[in-house]
Amino acid sequence: MKTLRNYIGGQWCEAEATGLLDVEDPGTGAAIARVPLSTEAELDRAVASARAGFETWRSMPVSGRVGPLFKLAELLKQHSEAIARGLSEEMGKSLPDARAELKRTIENTEVACGMPTMIQGDNLMDAASEIDGEVIRLPIGVFAAIVPFNFPSMVPFWFLPYAVAAGNAFVLKCSEQVPITSQLQFELIDQCGFPPGVLNLINGDKTIAEAICGHAGIDRVSFVGSSAVARVVAESCARHGKRCQALGSAKNYLVVMNDAKMDEVVRNMLTSCLGCAGQRCMAASAIACVGDDVYAETVARFTEAAKGAVVGYPLDERYGQTDVVGPVISAGAQARIESLIQAGVDEGATLMLDGRGVVVAGHEGGHFVGPTVLSDVTPGMAVERTEIFGPVVIIMKFGTLDEAIAAINRHEYGNGASIYTQNGYWARKFKMETQAGMIGINVGIPAPIAPLPFGGMKGSIFGDIKGQSKEVVNFFTERKIITERYWRED
Ligand code: NAD
Repeated sequence: MKTLRNYIGGQWCEAEATGLLDVEDPGTGAAIARVPLSTEAELDRAVASARAGFETWRSMPVSGRVGPLFKLAELLKQHSEAIARGLSEEMGKSLPDARAELKRTIENTEVACGMPTMIQGDNLMDAASEIDGEVIRLPIGVFAAIVPFNFPSMVPFWFLPYAVAAGNAFVLKCSEQVPITSQLQFELIDQCGFPPGVLNLINGDKTIAEAICGHAGIDRVSFVGSSAVARVVAESCARHGKRCQALGSAKNYLVVMNDAKMDEVVRNMLTSCLGCAGQRCMAASAIACVGDDVYAETVARFTEAAKGAVVGYPLDERYGQTDVVGPVISAGAQARIESLIQAGVDEGATLMLDGRGVVVAGHEGGHFVGPTVLSDVTPGMAVERTEIFGPVVIIMKFGTLDEAIAAINRHEYGNGASIYTQNGYWARKFKMETQAGMIGINVGIPAPIAPLPFGGMKGSIFGDIKGQSKEVVNFFTERKIITERYWRED
């Protein structure tokens, strides 16, 4: 079985680490590769090579820095089907989902190619009498990103292309659960003509991630993952005097009003709640119905539709074009999701559809949970408070839109939230008052495209800088403010 490698200083390096983890195909439970748990010495080498790479890269004109990124975007397009298949195998999402993730990866690379425009500064002539003010943006040094399992291709690209286009060097610590996608992408990066050390890949788990937060040679850290870890990362970075951006967990609500177009809405909610087996940070997992009739209709129709969702192995040729509900990432995740379903039942929710115990013929070792629907859920129940991160949907009833918004606003997390209505007043109220960073109106997954920022509010983000788009340029550059004047020549 293949042992994965690190990419340091422009070269693939055999792992020195003696600690190895099996990478599993979650749809079969079989090991498909081994990932090394890199040592601090290997991290030191990656950081030293990044620091050396930065010294040449920082002074390359920005138009030269985006050259290799244009090439990377092309290579990613050429190889996207192979990467999508590898991603689907190691992560378990359907092929259409994996292909969509690759599309967003490429899109981010292309947006970062606009760095010659995005990195431009600003000025204020005559800021005071014969004094001019100027804002310039400069590269900073070495950046690192620590990323989650659910988007092994896209999430690293919320940062990587922007960091290097802005003139920095970069170290990626991919998720130890899905490290194969990054190997495939760094094989392409290797062909793009980046100087050695500008882009580095290091494998490992939380031990090496913690070392990244404390490493004196790393200037700033981007993190995406659970809020519990985001907090640890943010605290550690603060202790070590480095700035970080940290995106965390979610509990995304869909609010259904009595004028919603229910045929479209049911289809839309199904994709939002069950796609990627509910393991998207933008997956909806709570449906809030406003009014008794809306509640009764939504419970009945959503449950019926969820019964029809296909649970299957994503690379099964029969499902090539279908959005199957694939496996969840691990046996541990499956056990956690199943115990949360039981907690819902124990707290008085009604189990309309139970996805526990689903077996996919021919893939008995896979970690499958079928679509699960819990109704009669009230705020404060464990299934309402917790990010379940599986194909489990809770349905709640509220008397008014104000009550539904209040429940969302009381929640610890505020990543995404959507409303289904044709009423402009309700839509505007929802947009203005709901405390979530990404709002949808008749859109079940309001995940912004690459030219727009991506990130939540409240406990779903630590710090104030979101991912992707020109928004991250502030994080990846130092803004210097110059105040200048010249005395009169006599
Ligand atoms: P996780 O928090 O378990 O792990 C994320 C990364 O952190 C991994 O690379 C892991 O090795 C590392 N890590 C683990 N413990 C650490 C520690 N103590 N110190 C430093 N690093 C540590 O998350 P996950 O299970 O891989 O991903 C799922 C989570 O990510 C969900 O909560 C999901 O909502 C969230 N997510 C959020 C967004 C967003 O935009 N807000 C996007 C994708 C995923």
